[in-house]
Amino acid sequence: MHYPSDVLVMGSGLAGLSYALKVADFATVNLVTKRELTETSTAKAQGGIAAVLGPDDRFEYHIQDTLTVGEGLSHPDIVELVVRQGPERIRELVGLGAHFDVGKDKNFDLGREGGHSHRRIIHAHDMTGAEVERILSERVLAHPNIRVLEHHMGVNLITEEKVVRRGRSVINRDATCLGAYILNTRTGEVDTFLAGITLMATGGVGKVYLYTSNPDIATGDGVAMAYRAGALIGNMEFVQFHPTCLYHPEAKNFLISEAMRGEGAVLRDRQGQAFMEHYHPLKDLAPRDIVAQAIDAEMKKSGADCVYLDISHKPGDFIRERFPNIYQECRKFGYDMAQEPIPVVPAAHYMCGGVVTDDLGRTTIHNLYAVGEVSMTGLHGANRLASNSLLEALVFSHQAARSAKEILPGLKKPTDADVPEWNPLGATDSTEMVVVSHNWDEIRRCMWNYVGIVRSDRRLTRAQSRIDLIKQEIEEYYWNFLVTSDLLELRNIATVADIIIKCALSRKESRGLHYTLDYPRRDDGHFQKDSLLSLDGWR
Ligand SMILES: Cc1cc2nc3c(=O)[nH]c(=O)nc-3n(C[C@H](O)[C@H](O)[C@H](O)COP(=O)(O)OP(=O)(O)OC[C@H]3O[C@@H](n4cnc5c(N)ncnc54)[C@H](O)[C@@H]3O)c2cc1C
Repeated sequence: MHYPSDVLVMGSGLAGLSYALKVADFATVNLVTKRELTETSTAKAQGGIAAVLGPDDRFEYHIQDTLTVGEGLSHPDIVELVVRQGPERIRELVGLGAHFDVGKDKNFDLGREGGHSHRRIIHAHDMTGAEVERILSERVLAHPNIRVLEHHMGVNLITEEKVVRRGRSVINRDATCLGAYILNTRTGEVDTFLAGITLMATGGVGKVYLYTSNPDIATGDGVAMAYRAGALIGNMEFVQFHPTCLYHPEAKNFLISEAMRGEGAVLRDRQGQAFMEHYHPLKDLAPRDIVAQAIDAEMKKSGADCVYLDISHKPGDFIRERFPNIYQECRKFGYDMAQEPIPVVPAAHYMCGGVVTDDLGRTTIHNLYAVGEVSMTGLHGANRLASNSLLEALVFSHQAARSAKEILPGLKKPTDADVPEWNPLGATDSTEMVVVSHNWDEIRRCMWNYVGIVRSDRRLTRAQSRIDLIKQEIEEYYWNFLVTSDLLELRNIATVADIIIKCALSRKESRGLHYTLDYPRRDDGHFQKDSLLSLDGWR
């Protein structure tokens, strides 16, 4: 089946929803999302959105904080663009009906987070993302110009050069995107979605790692699709890890807030010894990345599966009142944190790199845009300032919509005659899904052990050779059997793992979120530049 529209949007987090709403005023939109509409990282965001809204705050301060955390790789023009638009984009959200917490003075109750010099985090209790997702999805579902298709998963982008002209070369210096092949995961059919403009808003890559705070949808599909189509990808070595996720086989993705350490919780090894004093003068209150590195070092040293976070020395009533949600959640898994330490591990949390875009969200493929966590705009550089990611998605969905308004009238829309149907090439139903689950586990474990928080050339090279083998096996498998969402996600995490390793190996220094034992210092002379990679090679 062919599904034409002016604009195709892949993804229903903040980036996809807010873009769809904006372009629907002048265009028809097909919005596909691979699970339920609100199954997104956006819906899980707790802290809030950073913007200059307080009386003492200034754009210059927010710009400086972002640049400082980005460690020399944030692009100053993009930082300025994002920061200056912040208040206006927040006002738009409020105009749509989003409710954020206000203080007694009726002004926004602004929170403060690590790395911010001023209070500037607008929030809805500790469920900001859920509130934003709620209001945007309501509006999108009610819009007559937007058709929403849940359980529809992007398989591959359709580019004129590769699919239509069937060019032998995989490298498209001047490729044009015409839409995407989309798998209906309920029926198993792959349909052709044609569009003048395609926007990827497919979110992050957390599932590439064994432990992650991300929901199951975060398998890096957008990065993998764009890479296969020839787009430029950047800075994928910069993966942010959250120091403390609950360690329990059934407690998938449950974050233990850093506020616990703020209230006196202490990290201990399995012998009960506190260890943070060996790593930083601030001990348990050291910056997030140092804490994650320390936990990783302790686990690698002892071979233990986790470390322990202990707040049991505080009165039980205080703990239950200050952390009601975390307390209840831990009880569900059999831990009473008022009585005993709880097991924790660091977890992959946010990808600073992604599909390279300009200030309008345009990728290096014509008519293909990327917004949100899937993109690399130049905002974050080598590390992300807390709560800047939702802001980035808001600002860039606006920028990309502005660009769409300008170019759509002049675009020749692709027609059915231009594009062949998806061809399964004689593939049959798989009888060996065990191969998929085995490789899935192997990739995630390999990335966790060798390409995690603390890296070395030896670990990275070992990971590279394993991932090469797995990729080869997947490619053979992929062409023989009909595509399923599991198989597609496996292929995508393998591609993303490969890109992360390549970027990490190429950066012979430590900077921001990339820490390697072989080159423990920052080297501005050689490496104050983005890592930019496409099928073509390095740029
Ligand atoms: C637990 C947690 C807490 C966080 N807290 C904060 C915070 O307080 N402040 C902040 O700024 N950031 C926070 N972040 C980060 C932030 O939430 C994300 O970076 C942001 O929500 C990403 O938005 P997005 O629209 O790009 O992607 P997402 O919200 O993840 O949406 C991605 C969408 O793409 C769809 N999709 C994926 N692949 C395909 C495919 N192949 N085909 C079709 N659809 C596809 C998914 O189904 C989903 O609908 C947090 C993240 C997590 C996980």
